[in-house]
Amino acid sequence: ERADLEIYANRAAVTKDGFRVELAANIGTVEESLSLLEQGAEAVGLYRTEFLFMGQSQLPDEETQYQAYSAVAEAMRGRPVVIRTLDIGGDKELPYLELPKEMNPFLGYRAIRIGLDRKELLLTQLKAIARAGVHGTVKIMFPMISGLEEWREAKVIYAQACEQLRQEGKPFADTVELGIMIEVPSAALMADSFAKEVDFFSIGTNDLVQYTVAVDRMNEKVSHLYDYFHPAVIRLVKQVIDASVRNGKWTGMCGTMAGDPLAAPLLVGLGLHEWSMSASSLSKVKKVIVHVNRSECAALAERVLALDTAAEVRQALEAFHRQVE
Ligand code: PEP
Ligand code: MG
Repeated sequence: ERADLEIYANRAAVTKDGFRVELAANIGTVEESLSLLEQGAEAVGLYRTEFLFMGQSQLPDEETQYQAYSAVAEAMRGRPVVIRTLDIGGDKELPYLELPKEMNPFLGYRAIRIGLDRKELLLTQLKAIARAGVHGTVKIMFPMISGLEEWREAKVIYAQACEQLRQEGKPFADTVELGIMIEVPSAALMADSFAKEVDFFSIGTNDLVQYTVAVDRMNEKVSHLYDYFHPAVIRLVKQVIDASVRNGKWTGMCGTMAGDPLAAPLLVGLGLHEWSMSASSLSKVKKVIVHVNRSECAALAERVLALDTAAEVRQALEAFHRQVE
């Protein structure tokens, strides 16, 4: 594995027939960003900012957030850094926000829903991110978007954040890409509409699977039903990528599926543009990508899309994977 890391870290992620993809890393802290370039990451595809908010007694102010986001932007030396706005709720608590106890926290007051309800919280974060854009290439991503209105509202708050920065005379980047996570089936199904308005998508398979098959991602009792190779999930992924391509936008994936070498040929075949995973998976996935042809992967994807069960999908992918070795 160490040898793989050395062989693949500096190699571009391009298939034998020239399809170039971007391999990015998921991070939760500034520290994790410091060695990413050495580890072969070309970008940060998901910066989970909630860790900046957790483990302390109050909201981090604009300055504190600005410092953290800038540090990551600088560590990546101009490579893209996709910063996700606060995704709290669900399984992640923030005692000082005094979130209500809920019957179904994953279906409740969570992520962008909190941001749009407590607008000053989102506004402060967006100001900090836009300011950090001066130190590199940052992109903003909104979590748990389920409909067009939420995205449009978030965009208005971003415009307000820029306007405030302008009035305060603080330097900020005004060419920041704005995207959404696709992790709710309604958003995947509306991808065509979203693709006309957003700059990019990033598919969060961890939640997308949970919501598509109605299986709590934390519940071991039903974990046998939780599978990103479920044909329904694969169809949604295809729909999202196709919608982005039709509209000249790009699609990434930052859920666990992106870091699975077994899924890699399928995702190449579907035309995924950006892949974001834990840094430790980068060389394993890249190893697969550089050994496949996109044309063969496209044929594989077509076969897989005709299958009815996750078990059949897995079998097809395993058979393909054996030939790659
Ligand atoms: C996802 O849902 O796939 C995702 C990347 O977000 P998180 O795991 O932080 O919910
Ligand atoms: Mg998620």
